[in-house]
Amino acid sequence: MARDLKFTRNIGIAAHIDAGKTTTTERILYYSGMSHKIGEVHDGGATTDWMAQEQERGITITSAAVTVPWNYKGNTYQINVIDTPGHVDFTVEVNRSLRVLDGLVFLFSAVDGVEPQSETNWRLANNYNVPRLGFVNKMDRQGADFMNVVRQVKDMLGSNSLPLQLPIGAEDDFKGVVDLINFRAIVWNEEDKGMTFTEIEIPADLLEEATEMREHLLEQVAEFDDNLMEKYFEDPNSITEAEVLAALRQAVIAGKVVPMMCGSSFKNKGVQAMLDNVMALLPSPLDQEAITGTDPKTGDEISRKPSYDEPFCGLAFKIATDPFVGRLCFVRAYSGKLPAGSYIYNPRTNNKERISRIFQMHANKQNQIDELGAGDIGAVVGFKDIRTGDTLCAEGHGIILESMDFPDPVIGLA
Ligand code: GDP
Repeated sequence: MARDLKFTRNIGIAAHIDAGKTTTTERILYYSGMSHKIGEVHDGGATTDWMAQEQERGITITSAAVTVPWNYKGNTYQINVIDTPGHVDFTVEVNRSLRVLDGLVFLFSAVDGVEPQSETNWRLANNYNVPRLGFVNKMDRQGADFMNVVRQVKDMLGSNSLPLQLPIGAEDDFKGVVDLINFRAIVWNEEDKGMTFTEIEIPADLLEEATEMREHLLEQVAEFDDNLMEKYFEDPNSITEAEVLAALRQAVIAGKVVPMMCGSSFKNKGVQAMLDNVMALLPSPLDQEAITGTDPKTGDEISRKPSYDEPFCGLAFKIATDPFVGRLCFVRAYSGKLPAGSYIYNPRTNNKERISRIFQMHANKQNQIDELGAGDIGAVVGFKDIRTGDTLCAEGHGIILESMDFPDPVIGLA
């Protein structure tokens, strides 16, 4: 049965070099791959265990896209984490990766804040109207300052950054956060490497600041939603978590706000909460109304909706060699379905080719799948003539995506 696209997230992780992109990605893979055997996580083990496993099985965390499951509010989501090259220059590769993802987690170092590469990547993401979530990493480091980074995102990047949390403890003593949406405080449990947390009373010395920040958050979110605005004036306490998240999500997708969270991926703190908010606040493939391209015969603009019922179209965004399966072509599907073993038309070569197998790269295995459906990302084997940037489509339903820009800006991140 085809997956419900609303449970898919195609995300990238963008960062200035050294902000912790590799560590954070490793943690994401590790948590999702190991979540069924949490008890086996031992001290400081995540990185080394993962690396050893990687070498052993020849799977690379720098794969063009890795698929991980994530449970959130009773549903299993599929996250495709797309590698976002961190180059400062405006390479085709960076542009292409921004094109195939639907949302970004933007990492900052809590010590260094907005750095030159963050500015470049931020502006590129603006060009593609990519909704984003800010994660201020390295909160355990000396000189870490979450609110300073929140301010910098406003002042230097010109975006409406909105803190969702208030850190508890600083530097070496960073141990938890006040969640401003639920207005509860949590500290991460050290013994299971931050996989779980304990709820505590909001520390008395933070209560006033936390109350003010929650007020600010509710006021901002109410701005995006008339019904919430009414409730906000009548009784702000009657506003539920679900209502805040729903309004915030719309605002994030429309580029009106960048929610900001914090943590320390090295110390296993905050990455899980960040992933929860990837599900809650970043778009699914369904949130993009359609992808536009040109008709290879007439040059006219045509579009495809993110639906299994449309003719297939997808973009080849990376070609890689895998030690086990050979040459892989990473494809982002936008519409329709591509079954393994079927023929696919390439408008560049004007040929159709039979593809053999389709894989998804997981944290600890490669999964062969029967078909690649709209909104999903997979690695296709069997092409004889393929280049990155090629559009793949159903025969008789030609479309060329690469030469096109994304649809009209629905988003106004500026
Ligand atoms: P990348 O260049 O963005 O991929 O950054 P890395 O993940 O390689 O991290 C750069 C360095 O910072 C490494 O030495 C990491 O161990 C360290 N690091 C990453 N995250 C944290 C963190 O949350 N706290 C601390 N103290 N160090 C971190």
